[in-house]
Amino acid sequence: MKNPTSIQEIVKQELCTGCGICVSESPSSLKMQWNEYGFLTPHQIGDNINDNAIRVCPFNPSPDDEVKDEDKLADIYLKGATNYDPKVGRFENTYVGYSNEYREVASSGGLATYIFKKLLEDRIVDYLFIVKEVEGTYKYQFFNQVNDIIKISKTRYIPVSLEELFLKINEVDGKVAVSGVACFIKAIRLKQYYNPELKLKIPFLVGIICGGLKSKFFTDYLAQNSGINEAYSKQEYRIKDKKSLSSDYSFGAYDEKNNFHQMKMNTVGDMWGTGLFKSNACDFCTDVLTELADVSLGDAWLEEYRNEGLGNSVVVTRSKLADQIVRKGIRNGSLCVTEISKEKIIASQASSFIHRQDAIDFRIKTRKFKNKLVPSIRRRNLKSISLPFKLVQLQRQRTRKMSLTTWRQLKDHKKFKISMKYDLKLLILLTKINHKLRKRII
Ligand SMILES: Cc1cc2nc3c(=O)[nH]c(=O)nc-3n(C[C@H](O)[C@H](O)[C@H](O)COP(=O)(O)OP(=O)(O)OC[C@H]3O[C@@H](n4cnc5c(N)ncnc54)[C@H](O)[C@@H]3O)c2cc1C
Repeated sequence: MKNPTSIQEIVKQELCTGCGICVSESPSSLKMQWNEYGFLTPHQIGDNINDNAIRVCPFNPSPDDEVKDEDKLADIYLKGATNYDPKVGRFENTYVGYSNEYREVASSGGLATYIFKKLLEDRIVDYLFIVKEVEGTYKYQFFNQVNDIIKISKTRYIPVSLEELFLKINEVDGKVAVSGVACFIKAIRLKQYYNPELKLKIPFLVGIICGGLKSKFFTDYLAQNSGINEAYSKQEYRIKDKKSLSSDYSFGAYDEKNNFHQMKMNTVGDMWGTGLFKSNACDFCTDVLTELADVSLGDAWLEEYRNEGLGNSVVVTRSKLADQIVRKGIRNGSLCVTEISKEKIIASQASSFIHRQDAIDFRIKTRKFKNKLVPSIRRRNLKSISLPFKLVQLQRQRTRKMSLTTWRQLKDHKKFKISMKYDLKLLILLTKINHKLRKRII
């Protein structure tokens, strides 16, 4: 028996990021719903969950050998790629830059919006399945209005789910391109593996490089910090300041009277390195650069681009088609994009690699010690880490968990800060010590 684990066990053991693909395998018994910690997870609504549901789960501890990890899936879906690097995965080329037309309205360089527009314009696909505003919040939706493409711009750090993709895809006439973070893209690849006709139906995947998925509590917390104490809507996570640094962006949202409230993200401290409000499952994903997409897009977190407040995208093309789209855009002047080394791409996500890949072995060991399920992880990512880094890991896990339980209880940003103060201070101290010792060793 290959799959002793059930979807309910994955959810119970906090290994679910809410991609929702399992629902498409068992729609009469599973449905995505908000859980008590502000994540979308599959809930059982009927008897007899189909055994196939676990097969498409990106965190399945016992997958079939042929698709047991990102490397195996890349062998299937990106075998034509010219280059390979253990950190970047299979790829064609690596770039940095922006779209002249969409940079201003986008999160980073607007490459996602540009590529999606080209996919529609050139009739490579007929629809996009992307995250877009609906009734004041954000959801994955089908979309095909090429003249309104900027409506799909900007990344949204609120839980969203692909639940409807495979429930409705057969009602859609034509081909579909999808955007997604690494675990969502992996789930689509698994679905395509078990249903090969879906490779033709979904010929292009845009990978959004992800440093971790946040609970809805993250947005609630930011909204309160911006001065909204009631319901909020149409929140903006990446309001850029062209006169400032690329990292110096703001959060904003509308209150019930339709007033817009805005605050600089640096006023709430480090929300990413600390792991605040993050899904536990993200700590068991080693795919930093969305290795299974046709193209992977992220922020150019590099010294040489930090003074450009409008932001730049890092781009990894993995399929020939993706590379052609980017090269054509460069040639016709739509894209101000240049080639950079793969080392620069890796450097742009340095902290993510250190946390997600370097420390994965330690996190697996701690989980096994607690007798908990562990997803299938590439063995080549396993390495030992120093004692100070182990302490950082333990404190980061504690802080992450505490942020969710504390917000659930208090739902008040001032009380939350007081309650988290000492644990965050300890995490910052341990991180500093670890950095100092690491520099000495290097
Ligand atoms: C949860 C999360 C964590 C991230 N972490 C990192 C990180 O650690 N490092 C890094 O370099 N970049 C990270 N990003 C990506 C970064 O924020 C930009 O989205 C990316 O650089 C693309 O920018 P762009 O200007 O090309 O996109 P745009 O042109 O603005 O278009 C964004 C596209 O993403 C789609 N989208 C919006 N929200 C989501 C979502 N939640 N899931 C899937 N698709 C979505 C939109 O529909 C749109 O098509 C993260 C994004 C998310 C959603």
